[in-house]
Amino acid sequence: MLGVYLHMPFCRTRCPYCDFVSEAVPGCPPEAYVDALVREIHTHEGDRQVGSVFLGGGTPSLLSAGQLARIFEALQECFQLDADAEITLEANPDDLRPELPEQWRALGINRISLGVQSLDDRVLRYLGRRHDADTALRAIEMVGNVFDNWNMDLIFGAAPLEAWAGTLAQTSALRPPHVAAYGLTYELGTPFGAREDEAVEEDAALELYRTAEQLLSRWDHYEISNFAQPGRQCRHNLVYWHNEEYAGFGTGAYSFLNGVRARNPVTTADYLAGILGAPVTPAKAGASLPASCDMPTASARANSPFGKEESLPLTDIEIRLETVIQHLRLKAGLERAYYERRFGRTLDEDFGVALARLVERGLIEDNQVAIRPTAQGFYLNNEIGLELVG
Ligand code: SF4
Repeated sequence: MLGVYLHMPFCRTRCPYCDFVSEAVPGCPPEAYVDALVREIHTHEGDRQVGSVFLGGGTPSLLSAGQLARIFEALQECFQLDADAEITLEANPDDLRPELPEQWRALGINRISLGVQSLDDRVLRYLGRRHDADTALRAIEMVGNVFDNWNMDLIFGAAPLEAWAGTLAQTSALRPPHVAAYGLTYELGTPFGAREDEAVEEDAALELYRTAEQLLSRWDHYEISNFAQPGRQCRHNLVYWHNEEYAGFGTGAYSFLNGVRARNPVTTADYLAGILGAPVTPAKAGASLPASCDMPTASARANSPFGKEESLPLTDIEIRLETVIQHLRLKAGLERAYYERRFGRTLDEDFGVALARLVERGLIEDNQVAIRPTAQGFYLNNEIGLELVG
């Protein structure tokens, strides 16, 4: 089954560490952006069965109920949404209002991913977040009262470091169905990029990671950065980790379909211009759809209004390599029989030498039924990829 990702490249303000594709807007996302998303979704008309939908960003919780309804209507028209599909909306704690969780559920959303990041005000200030810990706790309560499937995103490595254990202890007491814990990075091109000297050393980062493993030990640490209660693994992210097909819509969204990895334009101005067929600057993006914007014909499409900014056909061996690397992010690893069924070749035929090296280095274990990352392989996961690439 296909995964569908919808990117919402708008936030109320920009967090200084963030390098996601997003820009600040004062209110709801511009209507023209929703128009473009709906139009792009309609380019995929067909009968594909969809097992998961993920509205990520940016800040999808800025979308009004009407805008969300338009997006879901387009999805229903163009895809076969599985009756059991996981439908996730990313939300910022400071957007939560008491009426919103019920509205979201009524639209068919059945999973909320909350950008909590920390439950310590000092850390939230360091990260430049708009919310404080009390706001996050209120948001968690509102979401938890309506949804039985929700996630807390957390960040480790932000000052003061000693706050991390406290946030984890509180998280554990809150018993979220799912927790994602990522290390803070100081990305070039962001305000934090100029503060790289504040980044924690590798050893200290590893210590923080191990603290998460210890304090969240009642959750299944099923992927390098992800912890879940039984049955609450993120099915959409599993599509990526299993290297299965997904369709991405919106600014900068990636797709992987028919062996081709593609990416949409990374600025919203370019995305809107491509989809709506005329230059639309972000400042004008709130304006309604120009009357001349008819659906492009197939030939116009080939000339690019829906053309991807990047489009890379992968070779068979590249797909097999990515499949192995992605699976080795998962505690469950990769079953040999599954690989043979999917590709008609054995793992040893394709990667036997590299896998033997990884076993020797203690980064994976191989019981001949499946290969799995060891604890060391979780910490040094990049090394696995490098060894496989050769
Ligand atoms: S961290 Fe989230 S809320 Fe902050 S700018 Fe990035 S996408 Fe927006």
